[in-house]
Amino acid sequence: YYCPSLPQFGGNVVLQGHEAQHAIRVMRVKPDDAITLFDGQGRETEAVITAVSRRECDCQSEPLVAINREPSVKMQLAIAFPKPDRCRELVERLTEIGVHSITPIVSNRTQRPPSPTLIDKMERVVIEACKQSGRNRLMRINPTLTALEFFSSTNEEYHLRLMAHPTSNANHEQLLGRESVIAAVGPEGGWTDEEVAVALAQGYSPITLGARILRIETAAVVIAARWLN
Ligand code: SAM
Repeated sequence: YYCPSLPQFGGNVVLQGHEAQHAIRVMRVKPDDAITLFDGQGRETEAVITAVSRRECDCQSEPLVAINREPSVKMQLAIAFPKPDRCRELVERLTEIGVHSITPIVSNRTQRPPSPTLIDKMERVVIEACKQSGRNRLMRINPTLTALEFFSSTNEEYHLRLMAHPTSNANHEQLLGRESVIAAVGPEGGWTDEEVAVALAQGYSPITLGARILRIETAAVVIAARWLN
């Protein structure tokens, strides 16, 4: 269960909201049951349920332990979000694979930016995917940027910058094995000439993901799966 503020040396923890509802209604926890808690920042602990009410769940936790379950490569993916009904699967998969953060981007060819409600829902999907996969660090959802803002920002901490572009024929095999990667996946209508020009000027390498045109969410998963382990 996700609990952002866990006592470092262990102690009493009260699960509330979604996490309590999941524990009480879905998992039907009882006093003396053992559970695992994580803080979303790479730390976790074992705990024992001490009391269950309609809305809350009390437990006694052990001291927090830092456990690294992240891939060795840090990846940020900038993505022109697809239609809302296709976002859940995208966010679930990227969280499971271990993407560090995603940045929704909008351009002239994007239908519309993701609404605050959609972003809130996706934050919840990240937590569910962490629980399902045993990841203890939340994938961050960065503020939405225009594609031009994204490509123009320095992003200097990344060792490799990639732009997925179907018309590229660049062989990316020689680009594997970097410590940190920032990559961008464009909208259904593709990148504009201006976006491509700015990305190239900022040191982004255009890469192909094969001779077929992939949906946005497939392209994002393929990039994450190729560079992360
Ligand atoms: N007609 C658009 C075009 O020519 O760019 C197709 C856009 S595709 C549905 C959405 C995004 O996925 C693209 O902007 C690109 O970033 C990525 N993508 C899809 N297939 C790709 C491929 N084979 N190689 C590289 N990137 C791809």
